[in-house]
Amino acid sequence: MTKKFDLCIIGAGPGGYVSAIRASQLGLKVAIVEANHLGGICLNWGCIPTKALLRSSEINHLLHNLDQFGFSAQNIQHDFAKIIERSRAVSKRLSLGIAGLMKKNKIEVFDGYGKFLDAKKIAVTKDSKEIEQIEASYFIVATGARARIIAGMEPDGENIWTYREAMTAKALPKSLIVVGSGAIGSEFASFYRNMGTEVTLVEMAENILPVEDEEISKLARKSFEKQGIKILTSASLKALKVGKGEVVASIQIAGKVEEIKAEKVIMAVGIVANVENLGLEKTKIKVDKGRIETNGYMETAEAHIFAIGDVAGAPWLAHKASHEGIVASEKIASKMGKYDAKKVHPIKKENIPGCTYSMPQIASLGLTEKKALELGKKIKIGRFPYLANGKAIAMGETEGLIKVIFDEKTGELLGAHLIGAEVTEMIQGFVIAKQAELTEEDLMHTIFPHPTMSEMMHEAVLDAYGKVIHF
Ligand SMILES: Cc1cc2nc3c(=O)[nH]c(=O)nc-3n(C[C@H](O)[C@H](O)[C@H](O)COP(=O)(O)OP(=O)(O)OC[C@H]3O[C@@H](n4cnc5c(N)ncnc54)[C@H](O)[C@@H]3O)c2cc1C
Repeated sequence: MTKKFDLCIIGAGPGGYVSAIRASQLGLKVAIVEANHLGGICLNWGCIPTKALLRSSEINHLLHNLDQFGFSAQNIQHDFAKIIERSRAVSKRLSLGIAGLMKKNKIEVFDGYGKFLDAKKIAVTKDSKEIEQIEASYFIVATGARARIIAGMEPDGENIWTYREAMTAKALPKSLIVVGSGAIGSEFASFYRNMGTEVTLVEMAENILPVEDEEISKLARKSFEKQGIKILTSASLKALKVGKGEVVASIQIAGKVEEIKAEKVIMAVGIVANVENLGLEKTKIKVDKGRIETNGYMETAEAHIFAIGDVAGAPWLAHKASHEGIVASEKIASKMGKYDAKKVHPIKKENIPGCTYSMPQIASLGLTEKKALELGKKIKIGRFPYLANGKAIAMGETEGLIKVIFDEKTGELLGAHLIGAEVTEMIQGFVIAKQAELTEEDLMHTIFPHPTMSEMMHEAVLDAYGKVIHF
């Protein structure tokens, strides 16, 4: 049997399910096909369960540092299984919530694996049996990505983990090596260290969190080291050998190979887009550098097929996937005459914020200082430290920095780089400013509430122009 829709979406992660809702709002008849869990990696194996775990580890940290707030507690215990259970329950609750949203928006959900039979039709299979064929005027490919695996160092689920095992561990390991210090690696390093594990963080690049502004990466390193995380940079993992109750990692640093032992290893060395086994060869879709090629409206080489989220390339972030989903659905609706084409805007990648929810948190937007200089920009930089902010001191959160970069000529906000408590909540202020193309003058005239940590954003802007008040 073949079912017909205006739009069929393959994959129900934050890209797919958001685009489905938007398309339905615009009056399209929408189908969504999901092989695993509604909500995709983000809700089930990514953003959400890790944040639930990090909340537990922050509480553990706080409980062990009660003294400064006038409390004392003895015999602080934790139940690791319960911490994992809570994280899984949070994911499950949100995934069920997506099922409710699909129903509310009259989106038909197909529980199975979608594959193109030709450019206008897909087959949906479940347990190797075809359960449906779907024809649609438009398609959105939103199949996401998976953990990158290095040949010869494959995760075994027992001693060598991907993020999946790392967030469903049966017991707290005594020692851990985290390979890769991007957002995922740094968050796991932070979680396990705050729970009491001996953590070594291994990074190939010169700095941890290598996509961040160098000054911020260096501050993150200092803070992680103060917390007891051992950090090896310019270090490349050569081999992993699983022994009795331990893994031996051979790591090359400055031409020498060192052996480091730990109970478990987390491989956090990047992700790979799910482009295989989708029948893409039956279409004109182009795959370049492992991801589906699109334009700013998320259109592929097939005018009626769109690709969004992780499968369409970096940055691999849930909010990027969701926004691309909105752009794609609005573009499709406009092609169908159901939405004003003038209201559809291509994605502006330079306005996508990135956040790492480690302790301290890191949040950034736009150009780093190094990149701005490489582009030949004349820049003005402003900084404001946490230790000079009243609210931060009152909260006992004096570690951190807000850094802003402006174009000297135009006053355009080129970049914002934040490290410290709650920066992942603050960065949005800069995102709005950048999206609205506010200048340094607009930001200087903006009134920030007192006492808040957000006042540091204002002070950093003032600092760029020699007008800082409290430092
Ligand atoms: C540990 C971890 C932590 C993260 N933390 C954050 C964070 O804090 N903030 C953030 O912004 N991002 C975070 N991310 C990244 C974020 O999860 C992804 O960027 C986001 O999920 C991408 O959304 P997507 O819709 O493109 O794909 P996905 O979420 O991967 O969803 C794709 C869906 O498609 C389904 N699928 C694949 N192929 C088919 C098929 N052929 N047929 C049917 N269904 C199919 C999959 O089962 C999956 O459900 C994290 C990732 C990880 C791994």
